[in-house]
Amino acid sequence: MSTLVHDASAIDFDRPGKHDYQVAFHLDGAWGYSLVPLTVINGKRGRNTNGVLCFGGTHGNEYEGQIAVKQLCNTLDADQISGRVVLIPQLSESACVANTRTSPLDGVNMNRAFPGNPRGTISYRISNFVKSNIFPLGRVVIDVHSGGKEGAFPMCTSFHPIPSAEQRAEIAKVSRLFDTPFAFIYSSAMASGLLTDEAEAEGKITLGGEFGGGETTNRLGVRHAYEGILNVLRHYGHLEGAIRPVRDENAPATKLVKADALNAYVPCPRDGIWEPLVDLGSYISTGELIGRLHDFADHTSPALEIRAGKDGYLLMMHLSARPQKGQTLYVLADEVDWSEVIG
Ligand SMILES: [Zn+2]
Repeated sequence: MSTLVHDASAIDFDRPGKHDYQVAFHLDGAWGYSLVPLTVINGKRGRNTNGVLCFGGTHGNEYEGQIAVKQLCNTLDADQISGRVVLIPQLSESACVANTRTSPLDGVNMNRAFPGNPRGTISYRISNFVKSNIFPLGRVVIDVHSGGKEGAFPMCTSFHPIPSAEQRAEIAKVSRLFDTPFAFIYSSAMASGLLTDEAEAEGKITLGGEFGGGETTNRLGVRHAYEGILNVLRHYGHLEGAIRPVRDENAPATKLVKADALNAYVPCPRDGIWEPLVDLGSYISTGELIGRLHDFADHTSPALEIRAGKDGYLLMMHLSARPQKGQTLYVLADEVDWSEVIG
């Protein structure tokens, strides 16, 4: 059973063993709480200066991270761990309950709410708790996402362009521990206030990723997230044992790709019914037909052909059949040699 905590500052984060909590954040306009699940493990195998912090459910309608991190709350054994591991499987708990991207309590997207505000609405108070109370507990931060209803992605880990060569190289090495087909360097210009923005800015080894989509549970996505986090724990010595591949041994090596400028994120030119003609993760050449937009107001009208403006790997495509004008329709990313990032 979890211990209910009303005052987060009362949690003893150094207490040896595995301890499960529900941290109560009072609602803004009603009597009641969002009860955010938290598991803190201080391993009995000795000290470890790293510390790994794992988050799922930052977006409520993305399930692979919620499940993988919850499973780790169950399966990790303090006797086998050195140092500290912190697990929060449903960070935006109210959004997770509601199966929505943003919290229904205040309409806020938790992944745009950082660094938070102790006097703000509930999502800002939760993100402020993470920034103030959780981030100081470790130097490795993992936030597991999937496309939600926004977009479809090939399975990938992700990180922003990182100015520090040392931090960038370590993040890139950690990204490979998830053994996904792609590791994706994405644009910092898309938005701010992300959990990963804040952790990266603090110099932490920070990793996001897209492990499924469409409000489903992707079997392989859960596996990559769960086994990948175990590999991170092994890599940093929190767990004993060698790194284990997640895919079978014949799988091609993880490809590093980059779309760090906004012109790679192509908006839909008009409302329409979307007919994709290529697969996620495939290599697309300039001029190649990516899909067609149909307008059923006149069924005799020709479809609008959407052709690639550049070469690249198709790292994201609009998920629903009904993209609206301005929504991101697709992203083409350039391959990057690992040596450019890792050195
Ligand atoms: Zn997400």
